Amino acid sequence: MKLTFLGAVGEVTGSNYLLENDRKYLIDCGIFQGKSETENFNPFPFDPSQISAIFLTHAHLDHSGRIPKLIKDGFKGKIYSVLPTIELCEVLWMDTVKLMKEEVERINRKNQRSGKPLIEPLYTEKEVEIAMKIFEPVPYDEIIDLKDIKVRFRDSAHILGSSSLEIWGNNTKIVFSGDLGQWESVMEGTPALIEQADYVVIESTYGDRLHKSLEETREEFRKVIEEVIKEKGKILIPSFVVDRAQRIIYELMLLEKRCIIPRNFPIFFDSPMGKKITEIYKKYSSLLSQELQKYFLELEDPFSLPNLNYISSVEESKSINNIETGIIIAGSGMCTGGRILHHIKHNIWKENTHMIFVGYQAQGTLGRSIVDRVKRIHVMGEELTVNAKIHTINGFSAHGDQRDLLSWAESFQTNPLFIITHGEPKSAEALSFLLKSRGYETLMPSLGQSIDLNKKEIYPGKESPKNEWQELIKDLENHISLIKSQLISPPSKESLDLLKATLILLRNIKEITDD
Ligand SMILES: [Zn+2]
Ligand SMILES: [Zn+2]
Repeated sequence: MKLTFLGAVGEVTGSNYLLENDRKYLIDCGIFQGKSETENFNPFPFDPSQISAIFLTHAHLDHSGRIPKLIKDGFKGKIYSVLPTIELCEVLWMDTVKLMKEEVERINRKNQRSGKPLIEPLYTEKEVEIAMKIFEPVPYDEIIDLKDIKVRFRDSAHILGSSSLEIWGNNTKIVFSGDLGQWESVMEGTPALIEQADYVVIESTYGDRLHKSLEETREEFRKVIEEVIKEKGKILIPSFVVDRAQRIIYELMLLEKRCIIPRNFPIFFDSPMGKKITEIYKKYSSLLSQELQKYFLELEDPFSLPNLNYISSVEESKSINNIETGIIIAGSGMCTGGRILHHIKHNIWKENTHMIFVGYQAQGTLGRSIVDRVKRIHVMGEELTVNAKIHTINGFSAHGDQRDLLSWAESFQTNPLFIITHGEPKSAEALSFLLKSRGYETLMPSLGQSIDLNKKEIYPGKESPKNEWQELIKDLENHISLIKSQLISPPSKESLDLLKATLILLRNIKEITDD
């Protein structure tokens, strides 16, 4: 067997692995977000028509979002995943189609006026409809025999339907962690432990960080909420619509039960998909944690509150710009698009606004800039000053922390080689260091790199200069924002001269790229 790394290396998004035995398979086929998002438009570095099947670990778009594009480009195989993943994907993909269509129309109107060529969306409803027909639902914990390989899906407790994969082929066993939840995740319970493998591809999102305990996390959340209620401000919570939003609603319910949130305090879940996704969670409540199942058994809905408003239409969404106080939960989780943007535009410059980040913010995203305390940001073509108070509550993350990742890794009894992916370099390096210090062998692959799993031979990959370009531009923009925000008194002559020199360099770059 041979494994090639085609995404989620040196970053968290774009998960995509090519596994070759007698036939070719993909593990996940996700979109790139943040610094590498232009990669989504590039052709796949393999022939999609030659892929027999995809094993999909979970519905998050950075794992599933390019599957309809794969179909558009000729994929004719099957997609294996557990049932809730299939239902979540349909909602997420249809929403993506709608957003892409609007975006492409907007760009094409501009391109038409300036005589530039028109662009096409990554995919349309047609490819999503085909995808829904080629899904093959599989149960957790059962071995599926595909002749040249065998596969088993195990619950990874990250979101509803999330899986780790065990794959056997040619006398070798490889395990893919998928995204791993916290050791005792409030939403999904504990990730399945696996004892045997020759190779383990492990995620490393929080490889360098520890979350606060559940009690501390809940206290942190309570304090912010109480402060806002007292000062009659607004809370914006950018959140993934799948899982994180339901978790937040559940936490708000707990606070309401304790009378910390008044029963008339306005709470909005502003997402056209919100209701549908929450319904899927309720439908598969038997897969959720014991803590949540208790509510369902007592016929109580943990994702419902008397003062929670599900907002669907754009008009309704706009109307909540004018409310004075309340909590708004909206996507996207990393502020890369979606309705959270217009709430940011209308509120982030106000001092009584609080933003609570409850999920991972990838490099190059607007969410990351805000978390990194950039003072001036650009949203929907406008420059805004950040006066809101920013809070990061990692304890609510759907990802395990360093301790959780190590505990999961240490359940292997066979001394496998750990291949570390799905993390920024410093997180991957931290996890690698800790695994090595425990006597394990590790590998941090680069993009395009392959490994022969039978001979344990590694073939080099290639770096993408395009990625670096995007990253540098973002970095430059952030620096300009920072300089602008610090410019109170007149700058020194030295600074001014350097700035003039920078301008000359930028002009030179523009001339070269124009050619
Ligand atoms: Zn995920
Ligand atoms: Zn992920």
